[in-house]
Amino acid sequence: MIIETMHPDDTYRLAMKIAEQAKPGQLYTLNGDLGVGKTVFAQGMAAGLGIAEPVNSPTFTIVQEYRDGRLPLYHFDVYRIEEPEEMDEIGYEDYFFGNGISLVEWAVQIPELIPENAISVTIEKDPEKGFDYRKITIEGLESYDFLKELGEEE
Ligand code: ADP
Ligand code: MG
Repeated sequence: MIIETMHPDDTYRLAMKIAEQAKPGQLYTLNGDLGVGKTVFAQGMAAGLGIAEPVNSPTFTIVQEYRDGRLPLYHFDVYRIEEPEEMDEIGYEDYFFGNGISLVEWAVQIPELIPENAISVTIEKDPEKGFDYRKITIEGLESYDFLKELGEEE
């Protein structure tokens, strides 16, 4: 499924919709260059889970937990990970294979740790289409029915 957005609010609302349908134990990877909108997407997902706490990039902690929503949210930013052992140290398996929603910014950094059944979200810019244009590719959701009016299936 490919969805194009023209404004950060559209990306935020798309993520909200996805989070409203999210099921316990799901892991979402969020990939794309710096400044593309991964954290905007994470903030939208948090809102869709009913999390009121402010969500920012967990730059210094690798993972930030939010427990005041419909499901727990585990927000990872693994940009600075150099060795998979750093993930072991924080006990990543308890999050990835737990009953909350894991959201992993920069999952491309740790491909060997990402489960097969992860849902993949990739955000890309296209300078020819404007500063706020983003192409968002979503793969691995069980059903895209609830997103059909927003984008096209590949
Ligand atoms: P990342 O986490 O990928 O490094 P951020 O989410 O922190 O990126 O920042 C994305 C920036 O891009 C924000 O300043 C946001 O306002 C801006 N932006 C512009 N257009 C969009 C869009 N269509 N979707 C998401 N963010 C957008
Ligand atoms: Mg970020």
